[in-house]
Amino acid sequence: MSQSSPAAVSAAPSRPAIRIDGLNKWYGAHHVLRDVSLTIAEKEIMVVCGPSGSGKSTLIRCLNHLEEYQEGNVSVFGHELQRDKQTEKFIHQTMGMVFQNFNLFPHLTVLENCTLGLTWLRKKPEAEARDIAMTLLERVGIAQLASRFPGQLSGGQQQRVAISRSLAMEPKIMLFDEPTSALDPEMVKEVLDVMVNLAQTGMTMVCVTHEMQFARQVADRVVFMEDGEIVEVGPPEQVLLNPQWDRTKVFLDHIL
Ligand code: ADP
Ligand code: MG
Repeated sequence: MSQSSPAAVSAAPSRPAIRIDGLNKWYGAHHVLRDVSLTIAEKEIMVVCGPSGSGKSTLIRCLNHLEEYQEGNVSVFGHELQRDKQTEKFIHQTMGMVFQNFNLFPHLTVLENCTLGLTWLRKKPEAEARDIAMTLLERVGIAQLASRFPGQLSGGQQQRVAISRSLAMEPKIMLFDEPTSALDPEMVKEVLDVMVNLAQTGMTMVCVTHEMQFARQVADRVVFMEDGEIVEVGPPEQVLLNPQWDRTKVFLDHIL
């Protein structure tokens, strides 16, 4: 990426929640992240978009200790991530992640999915964990489904459970990797509504999504990635309505 590209000069407004500096990652000979640098401010809502295979999932997985990288640094609230247990613990206390395919435990009820981390990892008493989980399930509108199993729920309901389960751990940052792309169209809105509400609470969020309506509504900035690179980053009205780069235009023409 050239130094004069918009990505290189774009600065985040306030205290950094995440600082990514010169990140490079290879899978064997395949260079999947190319010199990625990006600072995400506290309370910022960052939307990441770009074609399939451009490195979006790999990038956000590098932020929460799910992937190793060969070059560069990632700092979260000033802590530089290392490959050690201490970092892993810090990340688990700081970040929540929601995946495309929900990743719920199928043999546990909705409520148990949400209390497990609280009782096992946080050592909270069962009753307290239940109260926290029920409050969150209420907030996402599915408290009445607490005793069901994930297989008895629609995709949109399962994704709302997954969001509640993450929020139960009181993360400071939430990462979303295409949370609505496995959903039938009529269920997309119920999940996006939860994400919009969350954004309005001041949560720091990094969302890989192609839901451009969501991006326009809540994103502070939109990142466009291609081929492992950040091609463009800026406010949604700039990146979505007036992209500076041909590659961004081609992609947006495709999805809008
Ligand atoms: P995106 O989320 O933008 O679709 P990914 O981050 O999943 O892209 O993938 C980026 C590139 O890395 C793709 O070319 C993909 O095939 C490759 N890749 C992803 N995961 C692995 C893996 N575990 N081993 C080898 N290559 C991978
Ligand atoms: Mg992906």
